[in-house]
Amino acid sequence: AIREEIPEETARDIASFIDTHLLMLEDSMLTTTPVQLIRETRCNAEWALRQQRDAVARVFDTMDDAYLRTRIDDIDHVVNRILRILLAGDDPGTEPVTPSLKGQVIVADDLTPADTVLMKNHGVAAFVTEYGGPMSHTTILARSLQIPAVVGTHHARRTLRQGEALIVDGEQGVIVADPDRATLRHYRQRRSGERRRRSELAKISDTPAVTRDGRAICLQANIELPEDLRAVRKMGADGIGLYRTEFLYMNRDEPPSEEEQFVDYRRILRTMQGLPVFIRTLDLGADKQVDGGVASGAVNPALGLRAIRLCLKEPELFRPQLRALLRASAHGPLRIMFPMLSNAQELFQVLGLVEEVKQELADEGLAYDPLVPLGAIVEVPAVAVVAPTFARNLDFLSIGTNDLIQYTLAIDRVDDEVNYLYDPLHPAVLRLIHMTLKAGHKAGIPVAMCGEMAGDPRLTRLLLGLGLTQFSMQPASLLEVKRIVLDTDVGALHRRALAVLRADTHEQMAERVDKLNLDTE
Ligand code: PEP
Ligand code: MG
Repeated sequence: AIREEIPEETARDIASFIDTHLLMLEDSMLTTTPVQLIRETRCNAEWALRQQRDAVARVFDTMDDAYLRTRIDDIDHVVNRILRILLAGDDPGTEPVTPSLKGQVIVADDLTPADTVLMKNHGVAAFVTEYGGPMSHTTILARSLQIPAVVGTHHARRTLRQGEALIVDGEQGVIVADPDRATLRHYRQRRSGERRRRSELAKISDTPAVTRDGRAICLQANIELPEDLRAVRKMGADGIGLYRTEFLYMNRDEPPSEEEQFVDYRRILRTMQGLPVFIRTLDLGADKQVDGGVASGAVNPALGLRAIRLCLKEPELFRPQLRALLRASAHGPLRIMFPMLSNAQELFQVLGLVEEVKQELADEGLAYDPLVPLGAIVEVPAVAVVAPTFARNLDFLSIGTNDLIQYTLAIDRVDDEVNYLYDPLHPAVLRLIHMTLKAGHKAGIPVAMCGEMAGDPRLTRLLLGLGLTQFSMQPASLLEVKRIVLDTDVGALHRRALAVLRADTHEQMAERVDKLNLDTE
């Protein structure tokens, strides 16, 4: 039933989450063994299934491969779903099997991106999870689907009661259970204010993003899934500033073929009708894993064989993507960007490989743009420090603040225990950003920003003042950022933005940023 509810236009990789679960449902591990257990021990079905789940979990626990060990999560999804159905059958007082989810708040341990997409289709009002961080990919997806969420709460499942009224304030990270009348009134007013604000904002979707002192600012969108293109067009974005291609590779046994990728990239270029599209090469590893077996068992995956490191080690994985990208470059203004480069040697290796692939295509008589712009995502602090070297050898840079913050401050972006340390206003982070912008400026190449900081309206003025002119963000933030751009005189801001950089602490920084935002002069 769930499979059939997934709308046609949903990305194939999302639907295949559910297909994997359907295959598990047919596996004798879940069909035959629990029946045997019932026969042998005369326990009830729920207990038999639970016993079998625990036995399977013990097998997973002994696996060497850290990634495979985590796949017990899939079995848990399936087992828990069956258990809920069995338990609901026993007790008519519990939730029906397929309750209407419209307007409901989902409280869960954690959610997959597939769960998140389904929620949107069911009209779920919000979600609350025990685990996960605000920079995890499920959360990034929730933001682009505009579902309010609070994650990493730890005690929500124990504290909240079924059927209780909940307010989920994703902006402040606050959940109010069983609110009194005054609180409800306050939040209802805030909600209608927010709706009014959004419809007001919609009026500037076609207005060019030009500052009060006449500087054109480029506001682009980040996309993860092909259906995001609809939102991008609605917001009037100046192109795609980041397409995260790894979603094409997830939840399948074989990586997508060159042809499949070529068709996908060409389709995006065509849909964007002449606007630039920045496509990032495969960024697998760490929190972005595939089911295809290339994942490593590293103890510290964020520092391990991920992104460009994996691609350079496995050219048979990388070459088809480069071929597909170069071929697509003949069909529109494509830009290719490489994630997680950490030194000049890797940079030259990548550039050499691109040249080889170009030659190969030329020999085969296949079309490509010989001048297709190539760039790096600056997300390893070392690269920000040596940005002049990168800027001299590339056509553009794009600052990936999500990872840049993770690596600068040594905090795992998906570990909710240390998420409180995740701080875009750490002086070191802002100084690295500034160094990168200066290096690009000096070399005469554009520097964009595609991490979440680019879509944070609180930071827009600061970034404009530091010289950023190209922002790429989740489509939902685009108009809010544009409103600030339209209202800002960049020339007057520059010196004050530099003064923010000289602050010693987060508190001083935050205070100066707030002042920058308050003044409309
Ligand atoms: C980043 O690191 O800022 C980025 C844009 O990439 P991702 O969030 O996909 O790692
Ligand atoms: Mg990144």
